[in-house]
Amino acid sequence: MQEDVLTDQLNRPLRDLRISLTDRCNFRCAYCMPKALFGANHAFMPRSQLLSFEEIERLARLFVGLGVRKLRLTGGEPLIRRDLDQLIGMLAGIDGVEDISLTTNASLLTLEKAQALKAAGLNRITVSLDGIDDATFKAMNDVGFPVAKVLEGIDNAEAAGLSPIKINMVVQRGVNDHDIVPMAGHFRGTPHIVRFIEYMDVGNTNGWRLDEVMPSREVVERIHAEWPVEPLEANYRGEVAERYRYVDGGGEIGMISSVSQPFCGDCSRARLSAEGKLYTCLFASAGHDLRDRLREGADDSELLEFLKGIWRRRADRYSELRTHETKVVDTRKIEMSYIGG
Ligand code: SAM
Ligand code: SF4
Ligand code: SF4
Repeated sequence: MQEDVLTDQLNRPLRDLRISLTDRCNFRCAYCMPKALFGANHAFMPRSQLLSFEEIERLARLFVGLGVRKLRLTGGEPLIRRDLDQLIGMLAGIDGVEDISLTTNASLLTLEKAQALKAAGLNRITVSLDGIDDATFKAMNDVGFPVAKVLEGIDNAEAAGLSPIKINMVVQRGVNDHDIVPMAGHFRGTPHIVRFIEYMDVGNTNGWRLDEVMPSREVVERIHAEWPVEPLEANYRGEVAERYRYVDGGGEIGMISSVSQPFCGDCSRARLSAEGKLYTCLFASAGHDLRDRLREGADDSELLEFLKGIWRRRADRYSELRTHETKVVDTRKIEMSYIGG
């Protein structure tokens, strides 16, 4: 018997759930949590408002019942959340989950922690690293955090068996584009896959400008001039990164062209904020509150009906509209540090 697939208005199934575990972070990347707005007086969510591990697990189980196969934990900085390995163990125990991954700045990734996460059932890790030049990276994270410590976190992840590791670099023209080729060069010849991400207009606080976006095409050209690359087939439908390999066998890189070549047509991702709001698009201005429903005692079938209704009504395709109309004006977009990447 064929499974009834839940689809949205654009016939997209629900396959991925990104779970933000906290809105806090120990970095202040200017494009995500600029210091001027996320300073000492910023009011982060109180602990009581965050979903508990039990609540996250219950929601994840319901989402898996609706077709979700991949879970990604993010934030803010997810490694700030205590006992993360416990949560991973709980999520790994859900029947039907095929993949659990984590997006992190790796600043807190000791060998011990990496091993505990792996043992609990974490399959993969993505590390954000916006430059290999120390001065550039320190300026970008705006807390003076050194590259060497992130590389140590990457080594710890590798030693724990979380390899191949994906390394995300958000490219901002005039800020870190001089570091594209050195970054590629550093990880060439390793099993790790560097992915260059176009700087996006998420949130309202980063002062995004189109002229700061460097299209992936240009990134590929720069790398190709140094070490020739050729495109690879996508691993699966809906893969967000375009894959390339070095012709000489030096490994693989990826391009995430959210601005120049949006991929809304295949977007099967839902996002859950740390306080339990569901967003059907990274650029949504409003979420659907699940936490209050949980805490008011809703049973599974009520929650499932609520979630199905949300997904069936979904018609988001912000990035496609942005490109066609140059700019979509909406001043109430949600911040990346709140919703997770
Ligand atoms: N703190 C973790 C980290 O940095 O990996 C997880 C959360 S962070 C919001 C997730 C990803 O979103 C990071 O790779 C970050 O570089 C990316 N990101 C944040 N703001 C972005 C923007 N405006 N454009 C593109 N990527 C962005
Ligand atoms: Fe923190 Fe990640 Fe945002 Fe940087 S991108 S401020 S590390 S949440
Ligand atoms: Fe998905 Fe929204 Fe991004 Fe399009 S803009 S790919 S719908 S999250």
